[in-house]
Amino acid sequence: MIKQSFESIIRACNGKVIQRGVEKNIEDISTDTRKMKDNSLFVPLVGENFDGHEFLVSAKNKGACGILYTKGRRIPIESLNNIYIIEVEDTLEALQNISKYYRELFDIPFIAITGSTGKTSTKDMISSVLSNKYSVLKNIGNLNNEIGLPLTVFNLDKQHEIAVLEMGMSGAGEILDLAKIVKPTVAVITNIGVSHIESLGSRENIMKAKMEIATYLKKDDYLLLNGDNDLLSTIKKERSIYQKVFFGLSKKHDIYPKNLVDLGENGFTFDIEINNKDYAFAVKQPGIHNVYNALAAIWIGLHNDMEVQAIREGLLKHEASKMRMEIISNCDVKIINDAYNASPDSMKAALRVLGDIKGARKIAVLGDMFELGDFSQEGHRMVGTFAVDEVDILITVGNLAKWIADEAIKRGKKDQVYTITSNDEAIELLDKLVEKDDVVLVKGSRGMMMEEIVRYLQERS
Ligand code: ATP
Ligand code: MG
Repeated sequence: MIKQSFESIIRACNGKVIQRGVEKNIEDISTDTRKMKDNSLFVPLVGENFDGHEFLVSAKNKGACGILYTKGRRIPIESLNNIYIIEVEDTLEALQNISKYYRELFDIPFIAITGSTGKTSTKDMISSVLSNKYSVLKNIGNLNNEIGLPLTVFNLDKQHEIAVLEMGMSGAGEILDLAKIVKPTVAVITNIGVSHIESLGSRENIMKAKMEIATYLKKDDYLLLNGDNDLLSTIKKERSIYQKVFFGLSKKHDIYPKNLVDLGENGFTFDIEINNKDYAFAVKQPGIHNVYNALAAIWIGLHNDMEVQAIREGLLKHEASKMRMEIISNCDVKIINDAYNASPDSMKAALRVLGDIKGARKIAVLGDMFELGDFSQEGHRMVGTFAVDEVDILITVGNLAKWIADEAIKRGKKDQVYTITSNDEAIELLDKLVEKDDVVLVKGSRGMMMEEIVRYLQERS
């Protein structure tokens, strides 16, 4: 973070000074006293299970030179001498307003990514490409919400030339709030699926919520859309002040792969036509969704004046994040570790990769997918329909995932279907079933913690 004066921060959050402290510049903004650096501003947030206001003294002891607090709260002012005490209406809103102010100090491209699935993967691929030429700031891991995104913005520093930011949501209006802070110059929507249909009611509403990312795009800014997505493809190219780019597999799109070769677990090769000439590219990650993510990354590389060779290298440097289609081959079975999270869309993508692997027995261990609301049964059944042709052995873990098994049986999968309720049982079962050289896909919602199963598979050999 570039050092900021109290004056500018107080103005940005419309704060009221209750006590002046030692005149210092703020060197960091933190919501967590465990990660506090010297000369930080501490912003206490109130969550379901915690209240940051309880840690004001601890913040001072850890080096905070100022704290915010919510109007009306009693604070131990006697233990907070020599530091700035600033009262605000709402500490989260203040955090966001300071972040918005701070972002405005940077006249660099801001690339924002949203979508039902593939945000982190796409963000990582885009930043891998751009990092081959530029100094890039991106969110660490999955810090993509109303707290994580503002905090990410504070990591911007003088050396950064481009920011690549993932934006997540669970309801309408949330992406708008994030877009207000970031004011992207390029926005990407990876796809519209069914995640968060619970709070939004319909896929059309999900699309509307994702489209909020385009609210602040200006004339020379771009919105990149997956043109093969059934809903995103209905968006008209004209009728907006900003520019639209569609990416996808068919040649009707603005950017598409020619001569696409599927190398199975080794990814893909393809050509991209640039100024009437074809250039070869490759992605190492399996799953056709990675080609889509690469198309967005290549377009953004070109848009930011990168040489083809630098983009090509950047794509190859990209490593899949942990637990996202991570292929583990250094044990006696091959593991497709996709235990990070699951939605019907990403389940299908993962099953497709499993199905494409040749010559091995295929086992899918699939856990519950949460947050599908009324769509829960249908979503799980969709996965069941899809699994029939892709797997030899199907193991479902959890009460919701039972529907996957039920549908697979209904659709003709006669044997080798197991429904169980816990990871421990899954491990016991796998212990009996798994043979050398099998391929095992492990995937479920974050709360299912299916990495426990991955760990067992890695250690058994
Ligand atoms: P979250 O909402 O948890 O932040 P996300 O949108 O960031 O999720 P990722 O973590 O990138 O999504 O990927 C989730 C899963 O989707 C992974 O299993 C990954 O293999 C798969 N995936 C990656 N890119 C795509 C894509 N473009 N379309 C569909 N699935 C994808
Ligand atoms: Mg993510």
